[in-house]
Amino acid sequence: MKKIAVFGSTGSIGQSTLAVIRENPEDFKAVTLVAGKNIEKLISQIKEFAPENVYISSEENAEKLRRLFPGLRIFCGEQGMEDISGRTDFDVSVSALVGVAGLAPTYNMIKNGKTVALANKEVLVAGGKLIMDTAKESGATLLTVDSEHSAIMQCLRGEEENKIEKILLTASGGPFFDKEITDDITAAQALAHPTWSMGAKVTIDSSTMMNKGFEIIEAKWLFGVEAERIEVVIHRKSLVHSMVQFQDGTIMANIGPKSMQIPIAYALNYPKRLQNNIEKLDLFDVCELKFEKPDLCKFPCLRLAYEAIAKGHSAQVALNAANEVLVAAFLSGEIKYTDIPKGIEKILAVCETRKMSAVKEILDFDGKIKTETRELINSRKI
Ligand code: NDP
Repeated sequence: MKKIAVFGSTGSIGQSTLAVIRENPEDFKAVTLVAGKNIEKLISQIKEFAPENVYISSEENAEKLRRLFPGLRIFCGEQGMEDISGRTDFDVSVSALVGVAGLAPTYNMIKNGKTVALANKEVLVAGGKLIMDTAKESGATLLTVDSEHSAIMQCLRGEEENKIEKILLTASGGPFFDKEITDDITAAQALAHPTWSMGAKVTIDSSTMMNKGFEIIEAKWLFGVEAERIEVVIHRKSLVHSMVQFQDGTIMANIGPKSMQIPIAYALNYPKRLQNNIEKLDLFDVCELKFEKPDLCKFPCLRLAYEAIAKGHSAQVALNAANEVLVAAFLSGEIKYTDIPKGIEKILAVCETRKMSAVKEILDFDGKIKTETRELINSRKI
């Protein structure tokens, strides 16, 4: 029986992880649940999964939980996140917080040599080198549950002796691939993803294709392949989860149903696949697989991600930080949809280029960029 920690248990990936645990009670036990604000969902998860450790952001909510569940170890606040992510009483942790908030806890788990199944791609965008170097030193195992990267990981199994020609990273293209992108796009329109149901931030990132830019950086770190060898391929049906082309021309593809539970279960039970009740793919229903090139003029966030990769580490931290602030501002109705890339472009144009080697240094720089982005929004200069 594997003990599982779920960072982000109340979110989309967290709930899919708990669904896998629920369906496989002989194999997995949820011992740690980490949530932000959704106390109602967390309470129902505590009742169902009886974890040993629980985190909720605010002291006030932690106090409520202490009254409801005496005897349960309850953590809160910044120190609480340090403490719960420093524990070693689990076998696999699913890292599924959103944004750079996941960097410090993921780093702590990696530093302790644990097995981490990473969904929170922003961790690698902001701290890829630090995380990979630390994993090497500590002997930690870093697995991925991002569907594209899980696909690549599976295509690469047993291929250690073979050189990769390129990684073909598939993208759905989001809700606006076939539509015009205009200033008056609403949050509801941008949140209507054609193929995946996910948390709000990653859904907006998918619509702007910033998500794919982040995934190029994620793939670069996970698989040690330069960004020039990672090609984005639009595949509207989201059935081919990604591909690897080898030197002899062979392309290995991972094809399967659209369910995050499959890559999550694969990481939790790595390297053995688990039986599930998800409807299997019928290739005769699929009929054909279509691949298209992305349009970098229509999706400037993808172009900006390439530019940040070329500029270096601090530009990638800035890309992520500015994007977090601008996406939140769009979702709260403060800015227009088209202001997201415009704001990022402004921030990247003046962003200093330097390398950063510690979590605090990265988070300080992230904070500085977030303040600058906020000022840009407040001054209406986007
Ligand atoms: P959600 O917004 O649905 O969930 C985020 C989770 O993190 C929630 O449980 C939230 O708690 C918690 N959380 C956020 N900030 C904090 C914080 N500061 N402290 C404690 N808890 C916090 O996001 P998703 O599940 O969609 O995505 C999670 C990550 O996985 C993202 O990085 C995303 O890019 C990546 N990903 C997601 C996929 C998907 O299918 N959803 C696919 C591949 C990758 P609460 O809700 O209680 O506030």
